[in-house]
Amino acid sequence: MNNDRKILLHICCAPDGSVPVPDLIAEGWDVTGYFYGSNIHPFDEYSKRLEALNILIAHNSIPCEVSSYRPEEWLENVKGLENEPEGGKRCTECFKCQFNSAALTAKRLGCEYLSTTLTISPHKNVSLINSLGESIASSYGLKWETRIWRKNNGFLRSIKASHELGLYRQNYCGCIFSKN
Ligand code: SF4
Repeated sequence: MNNDRKILLHICCAPDGSVPVPDLIAEGWDVTGYFYGSNIHPFDEYSKRLEALNILIAHNSIPCEVSSYRPEEWLENVKGLENEPEGGKRCTECFKCQFNSAALTAKRLGCEYLSTTLTISPHKNVSLINSLGESIASSYGLKWETRIWRKNNGFLRSIKASHELGLYRQNYCGCIFSKN
């Protein structure tokens, strides 16, 4: 048990949050979700993912902060990296952008810890994600909770949980470049 320590969990999408959210709650964390979303294109897709997020947070009875949709701001952050392959430098900047935004929210809400659901994906570089998270969290005076959610069948469990909750599962990472 973690004595109800406050953690802000960056939820990249509802299916990826479907295991971390209940697992952290079961461990005794006081969980607040955070959804960035400005990397997602087009707006219709953003709306579908937000709808799925709302199902997840209602099911787990947690609060969740949703950033306003500002795709221009996100595009500015990845300028010059449009042609990078998935998993390349654009994704590193995308993670930084999302974690900085999440860290600001964690500070505002008085959360001591920060973490992400991104490491449930079998396609993501978990070492990179956790090292970026740790460095950004520490620059805001926060503690990074290192997790590799895909361990112990995490990804398979998330598919099952998403199916049970009827969550929309996207077929591309999110940005216009990953869609194309
Ligand atoms: S592919 Fe995914 S992680 Fe990479 S820049 Fe696009 S939305 Fe971000």
